[in-house]
Amino acid sequence: MAILSVRNVNKNFGGLAALADVNLKVEEGMVHAIIGPNGAGKSTLLNCFVGRLDPDTGSVDFDGTSLLGLKPHEINQAGISRVFQTPEIFGELTLVENVMISAFAKRDGAFKLNGWREVWRAQDIHGLAMETLSDLGLAGFSLNNAGQLSRGDKRRLELAMCLVQKPKLLLLDEPTAGMARADTNRTISLLKEIAGRGITMIVIEHDMHVVFSLADRISVLSQGTIIAEDLPEKIKGNPRVQEAYLGG
Ligand code: ADP
Ligand code: MG
Repeated sequence: MAILSVRNVNKNFGGLAALADVNLKVEEGMVHAIIGPNGAGKSTLLNCFVGRLDPDTGSVDFDGTSLLGLKPHEINQAGISRVFQTPEIFGELTLVENVMISAFAKRDGAFKLNGWREVWRAQDIHGLAMETLSDLGLAGFSLNNAGQLSRGDKRRLELAMCLVQKPKLLLLDEPTAGMARADTNRTISLLKEIAGRGITMIVIEHDMHVVFSLADRISVLSQGTIIAEDLPEKIKGNPRVQEAYLGG
């Protein structure tokens, strides 16, 4: 069953067709990678899944509900969590505070900083945050400031902030961008483990090693159009894909 269905989506910026008649189905429980050259429209497409952009025409349905016109927090509450290309964490706050804020955002649709006292009384949320940190091997740093973490650990914290929300669909925009090979491999193992729990994932990624290690299915976007959608081993040998990359 498709958890996300994109039908005939178009998005223009001025005279530029950033997305031209995009159709995409993401099956429940799968890791679906979206790849394509720079400027292909990957981020634009992802932004249509999280309420940052609305398509000009077409539809986006998630878990049986249309996402069109919903606000980002409403989409988050519907079950979509996102890891951004650049880590979006609160550097001055501790790891456990970051994860708690994310849990509150999902529960309440917003987080009010004047509710800090109430936050610390929320033992259930605190427990859940600690469990999630421990799950990602970060429990030992729970009281450190998030700003001090290495790039790879910031990524793991962001994943913790997503997982504490118990998403049905996890969106990852270049989850290994800027990482050294060892950190990349650690992230791949972690994401495989998360996929093993049955969480559906959409991964945008340039690094082909990451794509082919993780993806169950790959869609290739080029100049706003899906030019191929197939199993990873079939994508590798597809001449249109090679042309889009080498020619682009
Ligand atoms: P990708 O993420 O695949 O690199 P993008 O989705 O960021 O590609 O961009 C697709 C195209 O749309 C590019 O030509 C880009 O310059 C253009 N674009 C993206 N966002 C905007 C915007 N807000 N205003 C105008 N043009 C944009
Ligand atoms: Mg992009």
